Amino acid sequence: MKVALVTGGSRGIGAASAKTLAAKGYAVAINYKSNHQAAEQVHSEILTAGGKAELFQADISNEQQVVEMFGAIKSRLGLVTHLVNNAGVLQTQMRVEKMSAERINWMLTQNVTPYFVCAREAIKQMRGANQPTGCAIVNVSSAASYLGGANEYVDYAAAKGAIDSFTKGLSLELAPEGIRVNCVRPGCIYTDIHADGGEPDRVDRVAELLPLKRGGTAQEVANAIVWLLSSEASYATGTFIDLAGGK
Ligand code: NAP
Repeated sequence: MKVALVTGGSRGIGAASAKTLAAKGYAVAINYKSNHQAAEQVHSEILTAGGKAELFQADISNEQQVVEMFGAIKSRLGLVTHLVNNAGVLQTQMRVEKMSAERINWMLTQNVTPYFVCAREAIKQMRGANQPTGCAIVNVSSAASYLGGANEYVDYAAAKGAIDSFTKGLSLELAPEGIRVNCVRPGCIYTDIHADGGEPDRVDRVAELLPLKRGGTAQEVANAIVWLLSSEASYATGTFIDLAGGK
């Protein structure tokens, strides 16, 4: 059985990924931090559609909670064979000259370190899983990593730049074992994250500036994530799919 963990699976891109993976036959571990109601909604939609999923509450910026979560997934669903490193956060828009070290460090400990720690724990389980079509990881970065996030969140953009480097390095470490590691870089997608940045309607504001003249949907990102995890992408590792409307 393929077992996929989606971090931040309760809302946005993670929720769309969890539902799509379940529809494709994966047993899905839906991680969330605190929005139990949203997580339960995703869970019940999957069960109603005949899929298999379980909820795992854990703050992935807490190493101990991540270790315990992986132990719980192993006993309730089986060894993790696929990982979507997705949970991420924004902070209020601000220029670099106003950023405190505390804010910058928080951004890194929320958006970078958890991807490393979740991948570390996943790799241990993947090695024992004997998954015939191979194991895979997809990291959710951002178009901000190459656009820079100027005047809004350069700290977030830099954290996502770290995820791009992490993808490349980890893919090379794991390629000899056949574990593939890829990355998606969404642009402006309609989700709750923009409210965290202090501008809930940001996607509508910038849509006209995008080559495709519209924001994207969580499902459009999930489709790429699910493809990269699948055996249809069996020769892709260390690669990036930009879902940014042409930016
Ligand atoms: P979202 O709608 O705000 O959802 C965030 C998800 O992450 C929620 O499920 C939340 O759980 C979870 N989460 C946050 N911190 C967590 C933690 N410490 N531990 C466990 N779960 C945590 O976000 P989104 O827009 O779908 O973003 C998903 C990913 O895409 C992020 O990495 C983001 O940076 C990236 N991205 C998004 C966009 C965009 O325009 N939306 C663009 C580029 C990249 P709760 O529900 O429990 O709070």
